[in-house]
Amino acid sequence: MKVDVLIIGAGISGAVLAERYAAIGKKVLILEKRSHIAGNCYDYIDENGILVSKYGAHLFHTNEEEVWKYVNKFSEWYDWEHKVIAKVDGKLVPIPVNITTVNKLFNENISSEEEMKDWLEKNRIDIQDPQNGKEAVLSKVGPELYEKMFRHYTKKQWDKYPEELDASVLDRIPVRTNYDDRYFSDKYQALPKGGYTKLFEKILSHPNIHIELNTDYFDVKDKIEGYSKLFYTGPIDRFFEFKYSLEDKLEYRSINFVSETVNKDFFQENSVVNYPGMEVEYTRIIEYKHFGHQQAGKTTIVKEFTVDTGEPYYPVPNQKNREIYERYKKEADQLKDIYFVGRLANYKYFNMDQAFKNALDLFKNLEGKSKRTRIARNEKKTVHRVQ
Ligand code: FAD
Repeated sequence: MKVDVLIIGAGISGAVLAERYAAIGKKVLILEKRSHIAGNCYDYIDENGILVSKYGAHLFHTNEEEVWKYVNKFSEWYDWEHKVIAKVDGKLVPIPVNITTVNKLFNENISSEEEMKDWLEKNRIDIQDPQNGKEAVLSKVGPELYEKMFRHYTKKQWDKYPEELDASVLDRIPVRTNYDDRYFSDKYQALPKGGYTKLFEKILSHPNIHIELNTDYFDVKDKIEGYSKLFYTGPIDRFFEFKYSLEDKLEYRSINFVSETVNKDFFQENSVVNYPGMEVEYTRIIEYKHFGHQQAGKTTIVKEFTVDTGEPYYPVPNQKNREIYERYKKEADQLKDIYFVGRLANYKYFNMDQAFKNALDLFKNLEGKSKRTRIARNEKKTVHRVQ
C-alpha cells in the first residue's frame, strides 16, 4: 500500500489527523500498539451489559465551537452535566467546593454568595504569587479545606505533596461561591450516544485510512517507507530512546483500574465519588451505570489507584520534568516532516477538547488556508512542531 501519511497512535490526535488527511485524498496508515482504537477514550460493553471506559471515565466538555461542531459530525451526543462528590470525614460533599461543601464540613449555615465570599476571605491565606501547589490552595480556600480535601488527595494522585508541585497544577481548582455543583462550567457538556469507540469508528471510517492494531511503531519503523509526513502521538522520551532520561527519568503517573461487579442495582449515589483522605488507597470509585442512566441487573464499579509504573497517563508537572522535556523538544523541533502531537508527545495534560483542537489546528497550519496566507506573506515564523 502506498502511504502518504504515517500516524502513530489511534487516539484523538491520531484519529483527527487521519480523518483530515484522508478527506483531502491522502492515503493514511495508522499504527496502534494497543488492540483497539480510541486511545484513552476507549469504551466497551462489559460482562454486566454496561458501557464502561477502560482508561477511566471520560467527560466531554468544551467552549470551542469548532471542536463541538467537529465531534457532532461523527456522533449524536446527549447532555451530561457531570457531578462529583467526595467522601470527607464520613460525609458526602460536592466537588468543586461550594456553599454546600462548607456547610456540611464545618456545620456552617451559609446561604448567600456574600456569606460564602466572607467565609473564604476569613479562611484563605493572602499569598500574592503562589510558588507551589500548597500555596496555590491555601490562597484559595485556606488551611482547613487544604488539609481535608487537597493535601492527601494530591499525594495519592501524584505521589507528591502539593508543595512539591508547580502552583499551576492546583491554582486552577475551581471554588464556587454559590450552590453550583457541576464539575465543569463549559458551554457544551455531553457524552457521545453509543460511546467513544463508536465515535472513533466513524471518524476513522474512510477508505483512505488503514489501521494496524497491535503494532508498536518501534518494532516496525525500519520496514515502513515512502510516507512524506509522520505524526507521532506516543511518549516523546520513547521516541528518542530515553537518551536524556538515563539519570533523571521523565516522570509519568499511571493508574490501576480495579473493576468489581456488585450484585445490586446501584453501589453509590453518583457516577464518581472521590476519596481525598488517607483512609483508603484509591482516589475515586466510578460507577459507570450512572452515565446515560443505563439499565442492568447488576452494577460495575471501578476503583482507581494512582501508581508510578504502568501505562503513562499523567505527566508530572514540575521544574525538573520540564527541563528534561525541553531537551527532547529541542531535538523534536529539528526533525523535518515529523510532528509530535497529543498529550504524551508534548508531555502535557490535555483535555479531550484541547486534543481535538490541537490536531485540527496542526492540520490547518500544515495544509490549510493559514499556511497559504503565511507563505504569501513570506513570513519566516511557521508551525511549531511540538503542539
Ligand atoms: P492517547 O489517547 O493517549 O492516544 C495515544 C495513542 O498512541 C494510544 O492509543 C497509544 O497506545 C498509542 N501509542 C503510543 N505509543 C505508540 C507506539 N510506539 N506505537 C503505536 N502506538 C502507540 N479528558 C477530558 O476532556 N475529560 C475527561 O473526563 C478525561 N478523563 C481522563 C481520565 C484519565 C484517567 C486520563 C488519563 C485522561 C483523561 N482525559 C480526559 C484526557 C484524554 O484522555 C486525552 O485528552 C486524550 O486521550 C488525548 O488524546 P491523545 O491522542 O493525545 O492520546
